[in-house]
Amino acid sequence: MEDCDRGFDLEDRLGTLEERKQKRTLSPVDRVAERGYFADSAGGDLPVLDSEEALVFSSNNYLGLTDDQRVQDAARQAAATVGTGSGASRVVTGDTMVHHDLERLLAETKGTERALTFSSGYAANVGTITALDPDVIFSDEFNHASLIDGCRLAGCETAVYDHCDPASLRTELEDRADRADDDNDDESWLIVTDSVFSVDGTVAPLSTICELAEEFGAWVMVDEAHATGLYVDGGGVVQAEGLEERVHIQMGTLSKALASQGGYVAGSNALIECLLNDARSFAFSTGLAPTAAAAASEALHLARYSDAREQLWENVAHLRDGLETMGFSIPGESQILPVIVGDQRDALTLADGLRARGIVVPAIRPPAVPEETSRLRVAPIATHSREDVVSCLEAFRTVGTELGLL
Ligand code: PMP
Repeated sequence: MEDCDRGFDLEDRLGTLEERKQKRTLSPVDRVAERGYFADSAGGDLPVLDSEEALVFSSNNYLGLTDDQRVQDAARQAAATVGTGSGASRVVTGDTMVHHDLERLLAETKGTERALTFSSGYAANVGTITALDPDVIFSDEFNHASLIDGCRLAGCETAVYDHCDPASLRTELEDRADRADDDNDDESWLIVTDSVFSVDGTVAPLSTICELAEEFGAWVMVDEAHATGLYVDGGGVVQAEGLEERVHIQMGTLSKALASQGGYVAGSNALIECLLNDARSFAFSTGLAPTAAAAASEALHLARYSDAREQLWENVAHLRDGLETMGFSIPGESQILPVIVGDQRDALTLADGLRARGIVVPAIRPPAVPEETSRLRVAPIATHSREDVVSCLEAFRTVGTELGLL
């Protein structure tokens, strides 16, 4: 037994780093550390790369509120009055009024009885799916990793249906309904989907999904991470389509349009009671930082009552129109505008060319997206000026022409 080595050969794994560097698949966090990247909060969404300014056109800070004085003041005030951290799980001593204020506002915005916040969107998805403990889950093939991991941890059968395809979902539902000769009427079935897909820009056909759920007696869980704050009255796609009564679980993040950090689930009183007691990522994790909760509350207030949403959608329309006029075809109908290039080297060259002209839009490549669908994920934000959008379009035109993509 003495010679036995049951450890991990991390040196060997690190040895592949050089190879990954050559192939340019190194974790971007490492690249950032190498290049000395930091965000310049004073300059709108103008992070500084290698000491030169660049315009970022791929952020999830959709309403540009991370730099808003009112949001920053709310975080400062919470730090001064409640403290910078929760100090413990909410079920022990970490619960504060700041959390409850945010949860009330979230429930009001999402049209539900209650809401509950988690320390991240990832924790919200994993905690909710495992707490529900479904018998069968039906999951869109392009769902976010945190939904996929929730399905894996739940350990139940997961039927993956084609992206945003109700016919494929119906086939999966029918297969399961037929399978056990109607013996499965008391099984619990959960359909899970993102509402806005973060690298595809597509929007799930939620009302058709709800119809199918009702036909087969299943529940629906919608991840509104990339939609929260952007639609009617600061809600998501569920609000835009008036589906509050038909979607059982609305989940979202505080880290995108809400300019903060954390996740939430909104739904019935019974759902939230169940999560308070059975979601392990809630009970066994320190409560969301009060600073993050206060910033998200203020951002949600601004998403509801300021003109930030209007400014965002104006920038989206201008940019989409400009890119399409150039000849790029932009799938989806959300604020995320994927410029599909195909070959991953072309995508990298396009991203490098834009970068050289002061526009940051990283290339998204396999395994994050299927082979031959490498793309640039273009996402304008509300605080981009008209000139910023024009600069972005000009850079696309110049580099796209140079590369023969136009
Ligand atoms: N769902 C979706 C659709 C996401 O895009 C993300 C994160 N980008 C998450 C959940 C996880 O949220 P968080 O970053 O707050 O953990």
